[in-house]
Amino acid sequence: MHELGLMQNIVDTVLEYARKNSVRKVSKIVVEVGEMSGVVPEALEFCFDVCIKDTALVGAEFEIVRVSAVGKCRACGETFPLLENSFSCPTCNRAEWDLLSGRDLVIKGLEVI
Ligand SMILES: [Zn+2]
Repeated sequence: MHELGLMQNIVDTVLEYARKNSVRKVSKIVVEVGEMSGVVPEALEFCFDVCIKDTALVGAEFEIVRVSAVGKCRACGETFPLLENSFSCPTCNRAEWDLLSGRDLVIKGLEVI
């Protein structure tokens, strides 16, 4: 389960941020998970509970925002949601595209006290 390593990175980053900025308590962490990131949101939630154990983040809320995978057709330039269109351009029906969004796992926001 590679979510555990990814989650550990997120938790480390947040803890470091909190230390450097003299944050008393982090109340909420929001992360964006792209549809094409290969990350399973449910697994990530489970790993969050594991990774924050015995850290200053215990009690913090964890929110996942899912980001659609969007492709730009190389033939006609149409942009479209990949999964909904079975990875083919709805305009010209080709399956050659560049990924515009949906690949990343990023920390989107923090709420601190
Ligand atoms: Zn097209």
